[in-house]
Amino acid sequence: MQIRIDRTRCRGAGQCVLSAPGLFDQSEEDGLVVVLEATPPPELRDAARRAAALCPNAVIRVVESEGAADGGAGGDEEGGGADGGPDAEH
Ligand code: SF4
Repeated sequence: MQIRIDRTRCRGAGQCVLSAPGLFDQSEEDGLVVVLEATPPPELRDAARRAAALCPNAVIRVVESEGAADGGAGGDEEGGGADGGPDAEH
């Protein structure tokens, strides 16, 4: 999961900070949202979804990407072929 925000739309209402203080904060300078954990751990994912749903300006987007980690560009060929075919011997 990834948290994406569009700060240009943030009004600084702070709903996200109230609902998920471990994930969001507000800037001291302009009061706009700051993401503390762009990649939330499993126990904070529900809070991230809730914050996204609560934000009045749709600033927060939660991108679900389970198992999307690329495992490297391996080109190894394993010439297996030892499948027990239909003609199994007795
Ligand atoms: S709830 Fe939305 S508008 Fe309010 S501070 Fe958070 S991101 Fe900004």
